Amino acid sequence: MDASPQEFDRVLSSMCTRPHPEARAAAERFLADNPGDPATYPAIADLEDRAVDTLAEVTGLDDPAGYVASGGTEANIQAVRAAREVAESDTPNVVAPESAHFSFNKAADLLGVELRLVPVDDDYRADVDAVGAAVDDDTALVVGVAGTTEFGRVDPIPELGLVADEADACFHVDAAWGGFHLPFTDHDWHFGHAPVDTLTIDPHKVGRAPIPAGGFLARDADTLDRLAVETPYLESTAQATLTGTRSGAGVAGAAAALDAQWSAEYEANHERASGNAAYLADELTDRGYDVVDPELPLVAFSLPEAEFEAARDAGWRLSRTGSGEARIVCMPHVTREMLRTFLETLDAARVG
Ligand code: PLP
Repeated sequence: MDASPQEFDRVLSSMCTRPHPEARAAAERFLADNPGDPATYPAIADLEDRAVDTLAEVTGLDDPAGYVASGGTEANIQAVRAAREVAESDTPNVVAPESAHFSFNKAADLLGVELRLVPVDDDYRADVDAVGAAVDDDTALVVGVAGTTEFGRVDPIPELGLVADEADACFHVDAAWGGFHLPFTDHDWHFGHAPVDTLTIDPHKVGRAPIPAGGFLARDADTLDRLAVETPYLESTAQATLTGTRSGAGVAGAAAALDAQWSAEYEANHERASGNAAYLADELTDRGYDVVDPELPLVAFSLPEAEFEAARDAGWRLSRTGSGEARIVCMPHVTREMLRTFLETLDAARVG
């Protein structure tokens, strides 16, 4: 086999990153353990409990309930599934801002639920009035995003929680990407700030766990019970996860990543990444690009196609939002030096 894994030294578009060394080592040790069958694999089950305890601490959840999912997609699907289970409607709907991740489209499709995507405001955040106008008696779930995929925006979570509460719907916060930045900001985003029922926070993004490690959390354990099915042939008796056999590497990697970094290293990463995003936004503005002011460390800006292509030709992994802005995610592997070199690429492309 002569294929090599992607190096990270020119990756600007991804929400994945180099795993933490301790997480990588832990993942390798537990490669063959199956957390899907905790009675047969008790050590990995203990590590999963430990990871969930820490994720609960990060997200202001008093009584930890949840599991390490395959990623944010699974966690979001499970949130929709859990809400559908309690909804007293034959035609349930989910109301989410149009900035919500496309995993909600998959969830709606799989679960036969109508997805109502509501326009965002001028600054790319969920418009509370528009969400309020979209909910009705059939609304099973309202979604708020704490760190949007394209612009890194944080929706007004307490206000959206109120809308959900008034509509008698469940409320889910998707902090898949933002969850390891937000504890070090002033945002109200988690279980402690609003009537949040379920929350997504992914160790395999800013958490620096190896893939696959998403995080699905629920305010009360009943939510997981609602998702559980009986598992006759296993030593364990029930399973709440969407996948069956799961990656012991993902769970052990998440536990180790959280142990090693919560909270001092995550805070240091947040400071470094925010500084890098501010630097990049300033440098781009000075050069005359139209920049969306970063809230969390993600910089979106207008970039002419010729420069975009020149950057891609120079090996930069770069992507555009649905509305056309280039977006740079200041992940843990993105250094100031990388950004300087990237700016040099743009400068050369403009001159050339
Ligand atoms: N939610 C948000 C906010 C995301 O940014 C992403 C992916 O980038 C997801 C969910 C989906 O996560 P995954 O790709 O791990 O399934």
